Amino acid sequence: MSSPQDGADPGARQSPPAVEVTDLHKAFGDLEVLKGISLKAETGDVVAIIGGSGSGKSTMLRCINMLELPTRGEISIKGETIEMKDGGRHGLQPSNARQLRRIRTRLAMVFQSFNLWQHMTVMGNIIEAPVHVMGVPRDEAIARAEKLLDRVGLYDKRDAYPAFLSGGQQQRAAIARALAVDPDVMLFDEPTSALDPELVGEVLAVIADLAREGRTMLLVTHEMKFAREVASHVVYLADGVIEEQGPPEVVYSAPKSERLQKFLATVQ
Ligand code: ADP
Ligand code: MG
Repeated sequence: MSSPQDGADPGARQSPPAVEVTDLHKAFGDLEVLKGISLKAETGDVVAIIGGSGSGKSTMLRCINMLELPTRGEISIKGETIEMKDGGRHGLQPSNARQLRRIRTRLAMVFQSFNLWQHMTVMGNIIEAPVHVMGVPRDEAIARAEKLLDRVGLYDKRDAYPAFLSGGQQQRAAIARALAVDPDVMLFDEPTSALDPELVGEVLAVIADLAREGRTMLLVTHEMKFAREVASHVVYLADGVIEEQGPPEVVYSAPKSERLQKFLATVQ
């Protein structure tokens, strides 16, 4: 137990960041998309990633969960660095398949286009990874999925196929699916950009609920008002580098970079 005089809890101070990215580079052929990104998210942080189209936001998220291989740099999840070796002209290659599989289950990604498996019901989508990747007994996975469906307001859609759901319902199902692996970190890539305007709010409400719960999240979004409300930290990406970052009240109210000032003027 620490007394108030001790300041921050020393245990908390020692816990490694949930995500730490160091000098991340990514090129597609001659196209250099990420040019040295360093970024840290502590447990419970909500990091909003903003920036113009083509600035490298999706590529950055995809590198963090190794859907794309970085050309250079280091990625650590909860203090564990993803092992990679130099693959010559192919850039870095993961060198420990077991570690990669394990770390991947601690990250969950929600995509702009939902990416639900169309041939499975909502319930099927949610229990797939727990049952087939993590080895959770089916009954247990179903019981947990029911709680998650209740939480995202979709309990009555458990046996529906994705094609019969609205975009907002599909995205809420995708969030329930991401939560089903109880990830350490959730990565959201413009989760509301594909939705009709009247459906955006129901998805943002679920994300805000997760933020309140203390979930660690990296969230690429164009919803500036929302980012301002839920983010603990805002990162502005421009042309493959972090042009500016800081607490939302600073980034939004007193942006230093001229590029960020211009960007904010176009999106607000
Ligand atoms: P954002 O999400 O910020 O809009 P992206 O990360 O999707 O930006 O893309 C950044 C740049 O990388 C763009 O110029 C895009 O065309 C390019 N890019 C993304 N993915 C690929 C790929 N698989 N192959 C080639 N170029 C790509
Ligand atoms: Mg993108």
